[in-house]
This record gives sequence, C-alpha cells and structure tokens, in this order.
Amino acid sequence: MSELDGKRVFVTGSGAGIGKAIAKLFTDRGARVVVSDIDADAAKRAADEIGAAGVANCDVTDEAQVQAAVQQAVDLLGGLDVLVNNAGIEISSPLLQQSTESFDKIYAVNVRGPFVAMKAATPHLVASKGNVVNIASIAGIGGSPLLGSYCATKAALIQLTRVAAVEMRPTGVRVNAVCPGFADTAMVERLVPDFEAATQIPFGDLVAMKQGRLGTPEDIAEVAAFLASDRATWITGSHYVLDGGLTAS
Ligand code: NAD
Repeated sequence: MSELDGKRVFVTGSGAGIGKAIAKLFTDRGARVVVSDIDADAAKRAADEIGAAGVANCDVTDEAQVQAAVQQAVDLLGGLDVLVNNAGIEISSPLLQQSTESFDKIYAVNVRGPFVAMKAATPHLVASKGNVVNIASIAGIGGSPLLGSYCATKAALIQLTRVAAVEMRPTGVRVNAVCPGFADTAMVERLVPDFEAATQIPFGDLVAMKQGRLGTPEDIAEVAAFLASDRATWITGSHYVLDGGLTAS
C-alpha cells in the first residue's frame, strides 16, 4: 500500500516546477491528482506526462475561476482529500522602489489565491476530513533584500495556515505549510541575474555557502507528501523548513 493511496488531490500551479513535482510524486504514491495552472498548455503537458487524473485550470487571482476549478476537480475525483496551494510568483525589486500595482499583484497570487482556494475547498475537505498544504517559503521567516513583497506574502501565507488550522481543528481538517529555500526551478533562474548584480557573488557560490546545494522540486514534494498523508494526522498549523540549513546559520 502506498503512502497516498486513493487520496483525491488538487494542486494549483502544477504545470511546472515544484507544483508539477508534487503532482508527479503524489501520483506515484497512489493519489489521484488534478493538475491546474494559469498556463493551460503546461498543465496539459504535465498531466499527460504524470498520468494525472485530469486537468482543471484556473488563474488563482480570479475567485470565480478558482471555485469552478475546485468544483471540476471534485466532480472528476468524486470528492477532495488534499488541496495543495502551490501557485506563486516572485517579484525582484528593492521594496520601496516597487510599484504599488506589482505589490497588489503578488498579494493577489501568493496570498489571496490560497485564501480563495481554501474557501472553495473547505466544504469538500470537511466532508473527507482532508488537509491543505500551502507552499510558503523561508522568505516568510526571514527578510531578503530584493524580495520584500515576496517575503511579506509568504509570511502572510504562514499566518493564514496557522489561523485556518486552529479554526478548522474541530472539523478534523489539517492545514500545514512548507518553507523551502532556493530550489531548482524557473522561478530561481529568473532571480539569479538580480541576485548576482546585488551581491557581486556568483549565485552558485552563494547557494553553496548558504544551503549546500539547490533544493530539488522533489525534495519539497517529499515533505508535502508526508504532510498530506495519514502519517501526519497530529500535525496541523505547522510550517516545515527545508533549506539545507540556510535559516539555521
Ligand atoms: P515556477 O515559476 O517554476 O512555477 C510556478 C507555476 O505556477 C507555473 O506553472 C505558473 O504558470 C503557475 N502560476 C503562476 N501564476 C499563477 C496564477 N495566477 N494562477 C495559477 N497558476 C499560476 O515556480 P516554482 O519555483 O515552482 O514555485 C512554486 C511555489 O513554490 C511558489 O509558491 C513559490 O513561491 C514557492 N517557492 C519556490 C521556491 C524556489 O526556490 N523555487 C522556494 C520557496 C518557495
């Protein structure tokens, strides 16, 4: 019997990167996963490659789309056991030079997105005594130059996780977060030139110094799978750091 046998799972932003790795690992461990992304082509490619149960796309900033996609996933799967709020964006800018529009945009994706998805999924998760895994970041724990608004969104997501967990405890629904360090995805590739310009240190050296190596999307999927599984039934309201020791130093 596999760790996630029979779990019915919906993963936002799972056309690429960490979300795709989560969709794949969960499928490999016996779950039935519905892939979802703002990029419909990426979602279809990922779902075909993984052997996912289906696709239900949404832009997480659009509440009506999120509600429709969650309902589509529930219809496809016959219910919902796990919501993974993975969709997220980065904005690299000195905080006080950032435009107010881009500040609103990153909040809409990284905070409001998980909020509306949790609201849409709640009746289904209550019915199944399911759980939520929110993909936060170590940027939600410590500050990082150039990532000010991103740090603020991830701190907000950790707080949403805590409060939702406490409020949902009587229903049996668990809510947890994972906080990765730098992982090998397109998001980090986009950040490298600005980090190198700001620090004058080759990004590879910075990573080696701070966290040993880049995380892999699979490193993060492993922790998400544990939290989503019945091995973690006493764990709720937690945020799990996986960063090769970056925040320990
Ligand atoms: P990525 O950019 O490689 O992939 C993100 C995916 O989300 C893409 O498929 C994209 O199309 C989708 N997406 C973007 N905006 C969306 C929207 N509005 N609605 C629906 N889907 C949308 O990013 P990643 O590195 O895989 O990051 C995934 C999550 O992990 C994010 O929440 C990110 O903040 C978090 N995270 C990443 C790292 C890292 O080092 N890569 C570290 C910590 C946390």
